[in-house]
Amino acid sequence: MISGKNIIGSKMSANGEKTYKTFNPIANQENEWIFNEATTAEINEAVALAHEAFKVYKDISGARKAEFLNAIASEIETLGDELIHTYCLESGLPEGRARGERGRTMGQLKAFANLLTEGSWVEAVIEKAQPTREPMPKADIRKMLFPLGPVVVFGASNFPLAFSTAGGDTASALAAGCPVIIKSHPMHAATGELVASAIIKAAVKTGMPNGVFSNLNSSGVEVGQQLVQHPKVKAVGFTGSYNGGMALYQLANERKEPIPVFAEMGSINPVIALPSALMESGDMWATKYAASITLGAGQFCTNPGLVLGLEGEDLNSFALKLSEEILKLQPAAMLHPNIHSKYMEGKEVLSTQNGVEVLADHKDAVNANTAGPTILRVKGSEFLRNHTLHQEVFGPFSVVVSCEDAVQMEEILNQLEGQLTGTVLGETEDLKTYGGIVDALQEKVGRILFNGVPTGVEVCSSMVHGGPFPASTDPRFTSVGTSSIKRWVRPVSFQDWPNKFLPQALQDDNPLNIVRLEEGTYCK
Ligand code: NAP
Repeated sequence: MISGKNIIGSKMSANGEKTYKTFNPIANQENEWIFNEATTAEINEAVALAHEAFKVYKDISGARKAEFLNAIASEIETLGDELIHTYCLESGLPEGRARGERGRTMGQLKAFANLLTEGSWVEAVIEKAQPTREPMPKADIRKMLFPLGPVVVFGASNFPLAFSTAGGDTASALAAGCPVIIKSHPMHAATGELVASAIIKAAVKTGMPNGVFSNLNSSGVEVGQQLVQHPKVKAVGFTGSYNGGMALYQLANERKEPIPVFAEMGSINPVIALPSALMESGDMWATKYAASITLGAGQFCTNPGLVLGLEGEDLNSFALKLSEEILKLQPAAMLHPNIHSKYMEGKEVLSTQNGVEVLADHKDAVNANTAGPTILRVKGSEFLRNHTLHQEVFGPFSVVVSCEDAVQMEEILNQLEGQLTGTVLGETEDLKTYGGIVDALQEKVGRILFNGVPTGVEVCSSMVHGGPFPASTDPRFTSVGTSSIKRWVRPVSFQDWPNKFLPQALQDDNPLNIVRLEEGTYCK
């Protein structure tokens, strides 16, 4: 049952006066549950508890933390259809998507549990003393990664499970040894509460310290801002808009002790449709891209919002086929009226720019929150001149740009801001023929794809979901996959430290049996 209360460690709390409800975008009405926004006292209590929990949690073995993460996955599964039903009521997304996202969320937790069980992720480096080294003896120096401290995670609107309460940010921070305080997304507070209660059950069952996890409700910016400014918070994870991400990044940098904010703020994910791809398989790519652009009502940060091709008949046929295919697909409701109204605004702004042709604008409406998929076309010279056309329109929307030649295409890529993904459609040899374009694309992105669609982010160790600013605030890290744990740790060196007081990962006889870099060689 949904209580609408904040969850502060193992305690439910609802001291505030301010309440709010979530919204069912299909029924176009509010859901029945009432949520209590967290007060300043409740925020302080959650952070103080996380600070205390950190003192214990950071030293809990990888094996026990793995048990905790696996227990969260199984408690989420135990929530059963109530979770699926609640997710659908709050997001308007179909049941199949809810089940898929739940599977992904559990899979992420288990992947981090496996990472901890294996143990080598701490990057232990050992360089023993050389007392007889000339002209100076060398000390014994050993290094490994340690958790930063309490982390605040902002639930994302577009992934109520996989990027929210027990999503990738939470799983990676808990795996790193950091307690987590969730700033619940107001659009799916009930889904969040169910998952938060599963995390608390798992924490109690596996003997984790009280305060290792808290879930705070809020429907405005204040709770998140207070959390980011709290001196005992040590890092922040965020997925959402550029404005939201940058506001939090700036707040964190204005603190007396600045802290890292890992914000993933979206992207238009350029696609380079080379002549060979359009000549051989233009219709096939048009069909695939119509599906990719409209997937989840276009509410993915990897949505392909820009297709660059060389002007000519093949690009024209591709653009027309793409528009035809888009118009065949049933438009879907967006997550929330606010996201829908931002979509309508963005689409209007870009559609009315100089030189823009509207090739498709799906007008069928399921209800007031339906997003009509839209395809625009513009010439490369106009796109270069007008930076408004480079903006992300979050939804089922894409712009086809016809470039005069390869030089202009490269110039466009050089002008674009940082992106999460970039895609090349063509033949293998094109990667050499169009080497300048490929290089320009790689400079701008965190993930580069060949002959595919950018939607559908695999959760694996080799995944990079991040990219140069403004795709993310720090291009050195990923927010998807097991490497995302690196956001929540810092290296510490031990110099001449007595062996028995070293962390196990650094002790002489390698009791954890992990891979370590010893005197320049990776070994166990
Ligand atoms: P959002 O407006 O960025 O909000 C995300 C979270 O950050 C919410 O919990 C929000 O709190 C909080 N927040 C926003 N601005 C803040 C500020 N100045 N100070 C403190 N907290 C702040 O994103 P959204 O609600 O998910 O959707 C709105 C738009 O964001 C979409 O239309 C889309 O353009 C973009 N978006 C992008 C991605 C992506 O690709 N990375 C994903 C989702 C959404 P409150 O809601 O409580 O105010």
